[in-house]
Amino acid sequence: MEESLRKIILPAPNDFHVHLREGAILPLALKHTAEVFERAIVMPNLLKPVATVAEALLYKQNIETIWQAISEKKPAEADSPESSPLFSPLMALYLTENTSYEEVQKAAKEPAIIGFKYYPEGVTTNAASGIRQYTRVAAALAAMEEFDMPLLVHGESGGSVDVFDREQHFLDTTLLPLMQKYPKLRITLEHVSSKKAADFVASMQSPALALQACSQQNEGNQNSQNSQRTQRLKATLTLHHLLLTRNDLLGTGIRPHFYCKPIVKREEDRQALLAYARLGHENFFFGSDSAPHPMYAKEAAVGCAGLFTMPVIIENLLKLFEIDADSPKNSLSKRKVRLQRLKAFLVTNGEAHYKLAPNKSFLLVEKHDRAEYIPNFYCFGKNEKDRLVPFQAGQPCYWRFKRILHA
Ligand SMILES: [Zn+2]
Repeated sequence: MEESLRKIILPAPNDFHVHLREGAILPLALKHTAEVFERAIVMPNLLKPVATVAEALLYKQNIETIWQAISEKKPAEADSPESSPLFSPLMALYLTENTSYEEVQKAAKEPAIIGFKYYPEGVTTNAASGIRQYTRVAAALAAMEEFDMPLLVHGESGGSVDVFDREQHFLDTTLLPLMQKYPKLRITLEHVSSKKAADFVASMQSPALALQACSQQNEGNQNSQNSQRTQRLKATLTLHHLLLTRNDLLGTGIRPHFYCKPIVKREEDRQALLAYARLGHENFFFGSDSAPHPMYAKEAAVGCAGLFTMPVIIENLLKLFEIDADSPKNSLSKRKVRLQRLKAFLVTNGEAHYKLAPNKSFLLVEKHDRAEYIPNFYCFGKNEKDRLVPFQAGQPCYWRFKRILHA
C-alpha cells in the first residue's frame, strides 16, 4: 500500500452485498459498482427471485455481458490500457421453502455461487417468497452446513414487531436457535444496524482462537456456550448505517431517500457500528446494500426501502476512517494504521469469511483541490420519470478513484 497524503493505493475492494437489479436500472447500478469493486455479491431479490443455480448463472451472464458493453463504450485512454476494470459478480441464491438438498449440493459445486440469502417473508423489497420459519428450510440448512455453503441473512422479524426492534427480535427468536441447530454453518448477518446485534457478532470467536483457548483448558470442557461463541458468524456493515440515525430520517421532515431496511437507529447504535468498522474488527466487513429504486418509487405515499450509495462510498469511508490529507490529527503513522484497518474492512475480512483468493487489481484514490459534485439524479431509461437519486445528491466530492492493474 503506497503512502502519500493525497494519494492512496488499496487492493481492489469487495462489496459483499449489493443490489444490481434488472431491466433499465441494471446498467447504471452495475457501472457504478464495477468501477470501484473488483468483486460484489449480487442479491437475488429480483421480481422473480433468483432461486436456482441455472437462474443465477443466467443472471450472472447477463451482468457480465452488460459490463463488457459498458467497458467497450468507454473512451480508451492512451496511457491507460486498464480502463476496463475487472469485475466478478458472485451470486447469492434466494433461499425459499422449496429449496432442495440437491439444489444446495449443485450450488456448492459452482464457484460463482457464494451462498444462499435468507429473507424472512415480506420484510423488505421482493421478499414475498421469503421464509416463514427457519424450521421450514431445515433440509436446505442441513445441506448448507454439510457442503459448507454460507447463509446470508436479512436479520429482521416482520409482522407486528416494532420496526425499531425487528433486528433484536430476529436475533432472539430465529438466529440464536438456528445457530445452535447448525453450529458449523457459516453465517453472514447482513447490514447490522443496532448496537446489540453488533456486540453479539463481535463476541463471536474465530474457530482457530477458540480451539487454542480450548486446548488450554481441560478436555471435555467445551460446553454449549463455547460452541456458540466459536460460531462462524460475521456481519456486513453498510455506509448508510455508519452515517445516519433516525433523526436524519425523521427529525426534520420525512426524508424518503434515507429510508431503508433495517431502518436506521439511534446515535448510540451508529457509534457502535462505526467503532467496529474503524477497528477493522475481523468479524465485520463492508457490504454496501446499495439498492437503487426510481425516484418516483422513493418519493411516494408508500415509499420503497433502499439507498443508492454506490457513487459516494469511497469518499465517505475515507472520511469515516479519518484518512484525510488535510486533517491536522492525521500523522503518517496514525494514517498507516487507519489504512490497514480500512483494508481489513473493505478487502480482507470478507475474503477470509468467504474463502476467496485476493483480488487481482488495485484502487488508486487521489484527493483533488477542485470538487466534483454528485448529480441531483441519474437518468436510467427513456422516460422522463426514469430518474435515480443518489445518496448525498448535490454534495461535493474531492477524492477521485481509478482501478489499476499494478500497485
Ligand atoms: Zn440488501
